[in-house]
Amino acid sequence: MNTTDGDLEHVVIVGAGVAGCHAARDLAADHDVTVLDRTGVAAEATGLSAGIVAPTLFYSDIPGVARHANAFFREFDGTHGFGFTERNRIDVMTDDELADARALTERLGDEGFPVSFLGSNEVTDRYSEFDFEGFAGAVLYEDTGWVDPYTYATALQSAAEARGAEFHLDSEVTDIDVENGTVVGVETDAGRVDADAVVIAAGWRTRDLLPDGVDVPIRPYRTQVVVLEPDEPLSERFPLGRIKSEHLYFRPEHNGDLLIGGGHHPVETPATASSDADESFRLEVADFVPGFIDGFGDAGFVNGWAGIDAASPDTRPIVDAPENAPAGLLVVTGFNGLGIMTSPVVGPTVRQRLTGTDAGFPTEPFAADRFERVDTSFEYVSTSEI
Ligand SMILES: Cc1cc2nc3c(=O)[nH]c(=O)nc-3n(C[C@H](O)[C@H](O)[C@H](O)COP(=O)(O)OP(=O)(O)OC[C@H]3O[C@@H](n4cnc5c(N)ncnc54)[C@H](O)[C@@H]3O)c2cc1C
Repeated sequence: MNTTDGDLEHVVIVGAGVAGCHAARDLAADHDVTVLDRTGVAAEATGLSAGIVAPTLFYSDIPGVARHANAFFREFDGTHGFGFTERNRIDVMTDDELADARALTERLGDEGFPVSFLGSNEVTDRYSEFDFEGFAGAVLYEDTGWVDPYTYATALQSAAEARGAEFHLDSEVTDIDVENGTVVGVETDAGRVDADAVVIAAGWRTRDLLPDGVDVPIRPYRTQVVVLEPDEPLSERFPLGRIKSEHLYFRPEHNGDLLIGGGHHPVETPATASSDADESFRLEVADFVPGFIDGFGDAGFVNGWAGIDAASPDTRPIVDAPENAPAGLLVVTGFNGLGIMTSPVVGPTVRQRLTGTDAGFPTEPFAADRFERVDTSFEYVSTSEI
């Protein structure tokens, strides 16, 4: 891993998605920070996100990361216009998944997380809207919730600006300038910007900006969402959830509609960052939901969209200097559809890589050298498998 020394003054961050905005907020405390984006804040994957926050599940093997992420959303709540909505989550299990679910529940309980297992009758006693026929029960998480992803990113931007960061939101970075093995700036369509360090947080486009001989194992994949309006608005205690066997997840909207996500698959070279949800995904949702949740017999289709995120071989982001990178170059990418809930690790990990300060949680899971080699044709693993 590369780290730069105390000469670090001006850091350029490429990309104003949630990763770039979080890095900017933390670095701006004691550095000059400039964020450059080709379009705008939250213009790509971030703004298209469902905003679900469930790090206890997705980082169950690294409790320090889950604790840090859970705490960040609560601490940031109520600042810079940001709001975190707390809501329980049920992860629905089939008979085949039962043993693993019980083991996970026990492990997380031992770590002090508010997680328990409910049999199918206990689930429907608590949430009578669901039909659990064919399911064995659910893991109940009582530390989950969601954010509006656009508001979250702009709140991080506002926090960064309050610390002196500058955002230039119509600046496409075309090249990274390197002299004598060290980053010295970036080229943009509006001219050159000097820098002592450059953090590339350009989502699935990150590889396009890497100098020759430097690469990271990420590949773009597409993921989809539809929003349905039920016969009656969902109650204010309707949970978030996931049906792992169906590769679908859901969360209520504040107005009582239901957002359902899924339909993930890798794509080779995306033409655009977003598009409509596929008809086949809409039909899959229309086929499943009315039999699983009451009140969707005459549901209306409100909206549907698809976005592109970056996948990595082990579903965890890369927040590090890649092998052979010039001094002062970091990448932050590969969030695998979990970039909102994982974003709290970005700032501290970037700071640790650049300045050596302790992040306060394990950062090895985000190291570039955890992969033996850079293979960009790896088999895509969906986080719906976790
Ligand atoms: C439909 C959908 C649902 C999702 N649901 C969830 C969820 O419920 N919970 C969760 O945690 N995560 C979710 N995610 C994943 C999450 O949104 C992403 O992991 C996260 O937003 C990635 O953030 P990022 O900053 O890495 O990338 P992005 O948000 O894609 O930001 C990259 C930025 O870089 C800019 N850029 C690219 N190239 C250049 C360049 N050359 N010069 C300047 N700027 C450049 C782009 O304009 C863009 O603004 C979802 C994603 C999608 C698509």
